[in-house]
Amino acid sequence: MIKMPDGKLFIGGEWETGTGEEIVSIFPADGSINCSLYGASKDDGLRAIKLAKSAQSQPSWRSLKPHERARYLYAIADGIEANIDRISQIQTRDTGKTLRETAILASSASGTFRYFGALLESSDDLLTAQRNDSLTMSVHEPLGLVTAITPWNSPIASDAQKVAPALAAGNAVLLKPSSWSPLVSLELARIVESAGLPKGIFSVLPGSGHEIGGLLVDHPDISKVTFTGSTKTGRSLAIKAAKKLMPISLELGGKSPVIVFKDSDIDIAIAGVMFGIFSSTGQSCIAGSRLFVQRDIYNEFVERLVKATKKLKVGSPYNLDTQVSTMIHPQHRDSVAAYVDLARNEGANILCGGESPSGAEYKKGAYYLPTIITEVDNSAQICREEVFGPVLVVMPFDDEADVIEQANENEYGLACGIWTNDFPKAWRVGRAINAGTVWVNTYKQFSISTPFGGEKNSGIGREKGRNGIRAFMSQKSLYFDLTGNSHPWAEI
Ligand code: NAP
Repeated sequence: MIKMPDGKLFIGGEWETGTGEEIVSIFPADGSINCSLYGASKDDGLRAIKLAKSAQSQPSWRSLKPHERARYLYAIADGIEANIDRISQIQTRDTGKTLRETAILASSASGTFRYFGALLESSDDLLTAQRNDSLTMSVHEPLGLVTAITPWNSPIASDAQKVAPALAAGNAVLLKPSSWSPLVSLELARIVESAGLPKGIFSVLPGSGHEIGGLLVDHPDISKVTFTGSTKTGRSLAIKAAKKLMPISLELGGKSPVIVFKDSDIDIAIAGVMFGIFSSTGQSCIAGSRLFVQRDIYNEFVERLVKATKKLKVGSPYNLDTQVSTMIHPQHRDSVAAYVDLARNEGANILCGGESPSGAEYKKGAYYLPTIITEVDNSAQICREEVFGPVLVVMPFDDEADVIEQANENEYGLACGIWTNDFPKAWRVGRAINAGTVWVNTYKQFSISTPFGGEKNSGIGREKGRNGIRAFMSQKSLYFDLTGNSHPWAEI
């Protein structure tokens, strides 16, 4: 077992004990305590903001040439890569995710820093088309101080997706991780520190969302907030941002439809549907939680899906063959169970799961079995709201028009999966669905070079891709006179 972080916070480049509320990180597979720490208070936050402001305004950060700043991003990428095992173990302890998954997340975080370093070095500013006697250009500059607020479900990956482009842009970054998973972000701080960034450019401030999170949004020196989390919290932060006229990007919840047409390869579709909902124990914003199966194959498909789901290995995140691990916290498991109970009481058919597994090895953990529910209408609460657990609702559909209407009849618009061998149909349906990402004959595939984000209540803005750094910069236009003449308007 690796040694857990000591619980100190990274405030303005120094390791300190927080002066806010106590946070206890638990290993949700058995309830044992990983570490207890004191979160950041408002005073800690104010100090971090002051130090960030001073550090960001120094030429040693702000005026670095792109290739010089990129070196820091490469050093962070190398640091993550050299510590994948440690990061993966910490995140598994903190979240209950399988070691296999957390190693992939750590490796992708390293790739994210490397990608944004390379993008930084290779991005050009614009010489705009000349329309008069001036040389005209458009350049990009850092915004200043960026607050990044992240959730608990994939902390190292969400942290990297925000911190890497915001640093690349030349900002100082104040990272506020979830109170349920503070440890891996603090580990990221150790790596950033080893990469030699100027003190104050990066702080990690776990603590109460309301208190420290609120300060890091409200404070007048904060120039942008990038948030990933629930729609409810995101909406409240958007209102605050509007009052300050501050840009905010929001990566929020989802209730993603997955559509299986009768002409799909059924075996491949069943495996893809299960991965889409049950991997990460369903605690994924893009979980394919609403399944629509064409009526002609509905009965056969559901029967085979249930049979395969019952075979999934539910167990400790340390077992290499575990497919469905514990949930993040007993409280969250109870909220997932309450959704299923509600559907049951409203007459839904629970075809498998619908309870915690029995057996001594599950007793102390926050486990819940992969659950498949039928006989529900698309307007039922379990079909409308994000459950954020291993719970799939299945509904039949008749034709393209019917499934497009049902899939879009939801307040979210994050992702969609389409299973078919008819590619013109996949194109038509994919373009008609309100979603930021559409997967065809695959699901939950990611690439840092491909933008990600949601429509409707799933968010505002895009992360990743070639515009990722520009989202953390402001654009400035410059006009240089080419004539040397005085302006004809006034004779001197
Ligand atoms: P959450 O409750 O909204 O919390 C997210 C973050 O916001 C946490 O760090 C939280 O801190 C902080 N926070 C809470 N109240 C705040 C306030 N008033 N001011 C500032 N910060 C505040 O969400 P969660 O339960 O951690 O995460 C699950 C949600 O994230 C799901 O809805 C999921 O779909 C969404 N998600 C979306 C994406 C995406 O890319 N679209 C990716 C992953 C997850 P505390 O922990 O201290 O409360």
